[in-house]
Amino acid sequence: MSDTNLSAVLLEKGNLKLEERPIPKPGKNEVQIAMHSVGICGSDVHYWVHGAIGDFVVRAPMILGHEASGTVSEVGEGVTHLKVGDRVAIEPGVPCRYCDYCKGGRYNLCLEMKFCATPPVDGSLARYYVHPADFCFKLPDHVSFEEGALLEPLSVGVHACRRAGVTIGSRVLICGAGPIGLVCLLVAKAMGAAQVAITDIDTKRLEVAKQMGADFPVHVTTRDGREVADQVVRALGCNPDVTVECSGAEPSVQTGIFATKSGGVLVLVGLGPPTINIPIVNAAVREVDIRGIFRYANCYPTALSMVASGQVNMKPMVTHRFSLEQTLEAFEASKKGEGIKVMINCDKTKA
Ligand code: NAD
Ligand code: ZN
Repeated sequence: MSDTNLSAVLLEKGNLKLEERPIPKPGKNEVQIAMHSVGICGSDVHYWVHGAIGDFVVRAPMILGHEASGTVSEVGEGVTHLKVGDRVAIEPGVPCRYCDYCKGGRYNLCLEMKFCATPPVDGSLARYYVHPADFCFKLPDHVSFEEGALLEPLSVGVHACRRAGVTIGSRVLICGAGPIGLVCLLVAKAMGAAQVAITDIDTKRLEVAKQMGADFPVHVTTRDGREVADQVVRALGCNPDVTVECSGAEPSVQTGIFATKSGGVLVLVGLGPPTINIPIVNAAVREVDIRGIFRYANCYPTALSMVASGQVNMKPMVTHRFSLEQTLEAFEASKKGEGIKVMINCDKTKA
């Protein structure tokens, strides 16, 4: 274990530096975690490059990272379900636990949400990090730290497929084969989807999707959303019951509406431009339900049991690995978008 706390701090837009920070002490109901694996998400890269996502603006130095796992190194007062040495996955968003949304089970909508590496809240890309114990999930011995970190994007997939109503026999369209599209693919299949078509403009990503179980990769070469919808229907042999949009691109959202069968569901996971044109009357008169997705609620335990039981295999998603000291290189690699998931190992002692 380290006696210092090297941390990846975004000082301001474009300026990501490794800095020594004090080792944080766990308060009541918190645990201190010696960090192991932290995955880089598109949002981490976005804050680094652009300094903001929508209304969330980086105004003060912030530690990045929110897809994370590590080993409990100290427990605060009142913690009963975890002990020093437990390996845990960290659910990065901590809500107030008291408001109507929290009490109603939709805590992802809590207005008081504190989410790692969403300004001004520090993330977990550091040697040590402190987190409320009830948002830490003990990993079985056979689940790796990397898989623990990947429970974060997997939870997005669980939430999206739940809200989409994917079930046995579903015919599913996933738009966009980035990390989020791929986790939705894994979850849809695990939930019993009969066939999954997946679109992307990038053939390399479609190849990965095929390896991960996609039945019909659909290469998008036009901005005509209806034309892509026709391609999808030809590939699937029918209109999809549900569509999970994971690119945020305007023509792709249009495809989602045109393709989804009447009475079906389109969930919007991808977050692109804040305002876009969509064929809303087409959706209205065919009773296509359009549902938003914001992160997840109550999905970590499901994601963990899916990984622990072998129901999903997340391992092929990790294509690049770096040490905490190589954080800048890791972010450059992630920005280039060459692989799928870039992982950072924060532990000096364990490979
Ligand atoms: P990513 O950028 O790696 O993947 C997006 C994919 O969409 C890329 O492979 C890209 O080539 C593809 N694409 C672009 N235009 C397309 C088009 N017209 N048709 C089909 N595919 C197209 O991003 P990611 O990490 O996989 O995340 C996907 C989206 O989900 C992002 O917009 C992200 O902000 C969003 N997201 C939302 C939530 C949420 O809670 N709603 C959570 C996580 C991520
Ligand atoms: Zn709340």
